[in-house]
Amino acid sequence: MSIMRIISEGAATWTAPTEEQWTAVCNCDDEADGRFWYAVKTTGIFCRPSCKSRTPKRDHTAVFGSPAEALKAGFRSCKRCQPDAAMQPSEAWIDGLIRYIRAHLQEDLSLAALAEVGCSSPWHLHRSFKRQTGFTPQQFVRRERMRLATELLSGSDAPVTEIGRQVGMPGAAHFIAMFRRELGCTPAEYRKQLEAIQEGKERIADE
Ligand SMILES: [Zn+2]
Repeated sequence: MSIMRIISEGAATWTAPTEEQWTAVCNCDDEADGRFWYAVKTTGIFCRPSCKSRTPKRDHTAVFGSPAEALKAGFRSCKRCQPDAAMQPSEAWIDGLIRYIRAHLQEDLSLAALAEVGCSSPWHLHRSFKRQTGFTPQQFVRRERMRLATELLSGSDAPVTEIGRQVGMPGAAHFIAMFRRELGCTPAEYRKQLEAIQEGKERIADE
């Protein structure tokens, strides 16, 4: 099936995007994903609305109600947004990645690294993860690192820099800034507050 066929048959099957659909394409709106797919006549490729590839000319853009229809019309799926990949990956896949993240907090957990672990494109992983957990992978990694940091701060006397290293953030300034942003205080302040609470409890117990 060739571009020629698309063009020759295009007149019959070509559905131009509505105003709303076109706005979604221009804004890479992931809310529109799963509602329609768009294909570009000049490239022979089709995408999800959220694809970050260059916005096509509107005249060259057609919409389809499913990946199957776009494939049937002779378009190839975009490598970047993988429009014909399953929209809802198995929960087990994301659950496995969550377990991986928790067990490897000291390591490189960039989106690219996680995509490699998950045998997925970073883009597909990002969407799927967010859809299932409500967090982007990076937000989730950050939360898990901060959760572990609070555990280590309360359960050990290790210096803050060491705790930063143990949660995969060897740059102390970065770790402290991140901690403050997520928890509203520095790691040292957090520890002091915990100690104060502990002392208060002991005092009450002594009385
Ligand atoms: Zn695409």
